[in-house]
Amino acid sequence: MRPRYYWIALFCLLAGLVAAPQGDQVRTRVAEGFDQPVGKPDADGYYMSRGFASYHPGEDWNGLGGGNSDLGAPVYVIGNGYVTFARDARMGWGNVVLVRHTFMENGSLATVDSMYAHLDRILVREGQQLTRGQQVGTIGTNRGMYVAHLHFEIRKNLHIGINRSAFARDLTNYWRPGTFISSHRKLPGGGRSAMVVTNTYRIGDSIAPPPADSSAAKSAAGEKTAPVKIPAASPRNFRVNRFEDVGPY
Ligand SMILES: [Zn+2]
Repeated sequence: MRPRYYWIALFCLLAGLVAAPQGDQVRTRVAEGFDQPVGKPDADGYYMSRGFASYHPGEDWNGLGGGNSDLGAPVYVIGNGYVTFARDARMGWGNVVLVRHTFMENGSLATVDSMYAHLDRILVREGQQLTRGQQVGTIGTNRGMYVAHLHFEIRKNLHIGINRSAFARDLTNYWRPGTFISSHRKLPGGGRSAMVVTNTYRIGDSIAPPPADSSAAKSAAGEKTAPVKIPAASPRNFRVNRFEDVGPY
């Protein structure tokens, strides 16, 4: 290769390494089945106030008591998994937890993300390993924007994160949660662990990192793991319009 092309090739390689998603991997426990995120395992005491339909790529759960009777009620992770996001995403989302799950499907490993939105409190932190049925937070109203409910999604596409509006405004990237759960209650592979990819979606500068002394960090303090290091949000880029990524939620 002529030297000039060598340098061009080297530059392209380095530029690619800088620009490309990091695609890190982390080991997590394989999910041996999935349950509903409220009234575990079967959503006892809850009703689905809004279903999976275009364009609402998730399911909303409310307590049978109606109104805000479910405010502060526990929200549970649907299966073993790894927390990739646990912050206040503001806008229409509020406090959000995203969990990545890997599980056996037709003899090979598949991966999905579960999303728990509008939480009143977040009780887990990014980088935490979760066990099926572990509490991730409590049902909230997103600062009074809604009657208290859980907005819950299961994503096929691992690149969505909290940038839902950047993806097709249809249901192609999502599983119908109730159907997915009922068809994946009991799965092989229990006790195993496997690698899952991380850093597959962007967390914009507008979203502040979780406070170091948050209740989430305290409640998760059982595990002595170093907190995830995330650069501070730039105030200059902070989006004050919380409706920018407008719903429906
Ligand atoms: Zn919703």
